[in-house]
Amino acid sequence: MIQFWYHRYMLYPQNSLSALADETPREGLLFKMQWPDQKVGYADFFPWPELGDMQVDAQLDELRRGHISTLLEQTIWLARKDALLRAEKKNALTESMKIKNHFLVNDFTQITDLNLNEIKSAGFSTIKVKVGRSWKDEIEWINQVLRKHSFTCRLDFNSKGDPATFERMMSVLAPGLKQRIEFVEDPFPWDFEAWSDASKIAPLALDQEYKNVNWREHLQNMPFKVIVIKPARQDVEEAVKYAVMRQLKMVITSSMDHPVGIAHAVRVAAELKKQYTTQVLECGCLSVKSYKLNDFSTKMIIQGPYLTQIMGEGIGFDQVFQSLNWTPVQFDIKGK
Ligand code: MG
Repeated sequence: MIQFWYHRYMLYPQNSLSALADETPREGLLFKMQWPDQKVGYADFFPWPELGDMQVDAQLDELRRGHISTLLEQTIWLARKDALLRAEKKNALTESMKIKNHFLVNDFTQITDLNLNEIKSAGFSTIKVKVGRSWKDEIEWINQVLRKHSFTCRLDFNSKGDPATFERMMSVLAPGLKQRIEFVEDPFPWDFEAWSDASKIAPLALDQEYKNVNWREHLQNMPFKVIVIKPARQDVEEAVKYAVMRQLKMVITSSMDHPVGIAHAVRVAAELKKQYTTQVLECGCLSVKSYKLNDFSTKMIIQGPYLTQIMGEGIGFDQVFQSLNWTPVQFDIKGK
């Protein structure tokens, strides 16, 4: 049986996060786990109630009753990876391939032209813009940015758009700029026919709508070119299997979670990139700046689009982990 300890934390957004979430502080848990073979590993647990996850306290109650949610399954999977690296005294990042990431624009109103110049000179070649809040302003900004700067652009509606808005938005994109839209993620809720129509306008990427796709039913070509894989939320092996079967490109991203989640996402991205070199595109793990700095994010060494180092064993952060208060999870199996 695995022993669990948790540490509760809050993340404070710098500004509005997406069409799903504003500046409200977000709660999550860090987990420390020990296996019967004595190996110890750490991983993050960051529910998104906006996506249907239970809140932290309800999740803890479920765990005490011995119920493991899909989200917690991923936490355990990642913590085990960390434990194996720690047992061998290896660091997750120093020995892995370098993973290039896009620059995440949660709230375009906060990004100036000067910022964009800095982002460019830091080495980023792709920006991902969260859209779906005010499409006319958004597309005007995107038009301006693409005219002035040489970025490739990814757009993410977080399923908050609709087919008509999507079509209108794409139609006002200035001529010649459209091919610089690498893909549009979750333009609106999954519907095979509607997505097929939209895919004729711009390449699409599947992220949160993954859970609504019936892979067995649709044996013909899927109306998306890219699958976004979030190791914190998804069975990675299964998603990779679909990507390989359908020759889809993969983008590995964080769940806009705690730095511990980011470190794990980068490690998984590096493992996949090694195996599927051309199929794994630039990733989206660098969401650190979405939140105010904390004791963990200040330990990350970031050089432009790359997370290059976190001191310690496994995913790192050894000293910070040791300084935290950990609460043991007491199982209440009779309540089962
Ligand atoms: Mg997304």
